[in-house]
Amino acid sequence: MRIVFIGPPGAGKGTQCKRLAEYLKVPHLSTGEMLRSARSEGELGCLVARYIDVGQLAPDDVVMQIVKKRLEAGDCRAGCLFDGFPRTLVQARLLDEHLAHCGGRVEVVLDLRVKQDELVSRMLKRAQLENRADDTAETIQARLEVFHTQTAPLLDYYGAQGVVERIDGMRSPEAVFEDIRSRVDRRREG
Ligand code: ADP
Repeated sequence: MRIVFIGPPGAGKGTQCKRLAEYLKVPHLSTGEMLRSARSEGELGCLVARYIDVGQLAPDDVVMQIVKKRLEAGDCRAGCLFDGFPRTLVQARLLDEHLAHCGGRVEVVLDLRVKQDELVSRMLKRAQLENRADDTAETIQARLEVFHTQTAPLLDYYGAQGVVERIDGMRSPEAVFEDIRSRVDRRREG
């Protein structure tokens, strides 16, 4: 199964993806993590850092290149979880094209919803714990804005495909996961 997680920064995508990947036994592909590790790699790394450090999206072609390369690995054949990807309509269309080429498609899109003030307080807490360079008050605002303008429109795009499941992310991580698991199971059986 191919599953896409959509949610604003701080919604808990990473935590839920990790659990769901273990449950489904498929790889967890986080473009945020991939880009952070590409950050230290020469010219491409410098380019990527210029965007992520100010809370802007990395260029679509760079992200697509990284994702396509990862998808070539054999472990993604049975499916995977996309965490933080696609983040723009261009990426969503290119992903659909790529999957169609291999006879696949996105089967479920999880739309993880959390209120704005809760997102900000979760991210500020994470900033203290993980010391992530992009978790500062300014970049948090920038990333939330980028989410609303560039990523939220994907919900209409996937909505038209009938694959979106809306999840209330304001509950405990356990309750959120149970909800996700039961909806994914229903989609798998159906
Ligand atoms: P968060 O969801 O909390 O913002 P991520 O780890 O998913 O954290 O992403 C961190 C940063 O990496 C983003 O702010 C963005 O700059 C970059 N990034 C991640 N995924 C993408 C993507 N699909 N397209 C463009 N940029 C991305």
